[in-house]
Amino acid sequence: MSGGDITGRASQPGPESNPRLGLTGFVSTTPMSTLAPLLREERDILDRAVSLLSGLPLAVLTGAGLSTDSGIPDYRGPQSVKRNPMTYQQFVGDEELRRRYWARNHVGWRHLRRADPNAGHAAVALMEERGLLTGLVTQNVDKLHSSAGSLNVIDLHGTFDRVVCLQCGSVFPRSRVAEILEELNPGYLERESDAGDVAPDADADVDDTGDFSMAPCPVCGGMLKPDFVYFGENVPKDRVAAAYAMVDAAGALLVAGSSLTVMSGLRFVRHAAKQGKPVVIINRGPTRGDDFASLKIEVGVSEALTYLAEQLPALPTGHVPVPKEPE
Ligand SMILES: [Zn+2]
Repeated sequence: MSGGDITGRASQPGPESNPRLGLTGFVSTTPMSTLAPLLREERDILDRAVSLLSGLPLAVLTGAGLSTDSGIPDYRGPQSVKRNPMTYQQFVGDEELRRRYWARNHVGWRHLRRADPNAGHAAVALMEERGLLTGLVTQNVDKLHSSAGSLNVIDLHGTFDRVVCLQCGSVFPRSRVAEILEELNPGYLERESDAGDVAPDADADVDDTGDFSMAPCPVCGGMLKPDFVYFGENVPKDRVAAAYAMVDAAGALLVAGSSLTVMSGLRFVRHAAKQGKPVVIINRGPTRGDDFASLKIEVGVSEALTYLAEQLPALPTGHVPVPKEPE
């Protein structure tokens, strides 16, 4: 649980000082069954959101706060622990940092694969099914919206289950790279399986990474990188354009579980506000988008989304077409 590394974990409190985190870094709540009853004043503010959003097709933007009820810690939330994720420049420029990163990711990605969607994810999927959404943009790489049944999803920062070659551009499933890494590093997983905290980007708290062998690209031998957007890296242009299109097609923007710390998400809030569209933000704690919000809701994300998915009326002029399930 220690090690003065790039992630700054050395200074973070252990599980004993943060009772929400177990030894694996995952909350021991059961997803889908933990909705807290709404207080009177919470219901009142949610009803204000219902009147504000009624009759408007919605674009939804979600962040790490949506996945905390699935046991994935939010490193920017009010109870978060400090952590400085690796930058793109560090990843490509420093072999030892890259080796450490891959070793930790080798352990950590399995935790994300085992996580289940929670009531908040289910609520967003229900909104889509009810024809209320122009689409969903998520900053999370955990794919839990897709697991919950959402179809029209833009994974703004990529996904944890894909790996890309920086030389030839080939993309591989993370599970395939896992097989290669296991062959190159026999016994490593067994030795490190009691990893401590696991971050939202599959970075596990592993100390012994010095002798870890990284996998070269199976096609060209080039450098592999998990296919998500690092700090210091830009979101691909076509992905950003697709997200703007969802906001443009919407009558309002609903933000859930994001403190909007990074510009990659905040720009959509500014965009919607500039167009004069209502912006509703559900997040415990302040966000960088609060000044643009028509309504700020400090209620648990899963509870609030579940309420809205049930209470928002159907759109008067038909509904937004729901994309077809992929074959
Ligand atoms: Zn390659």
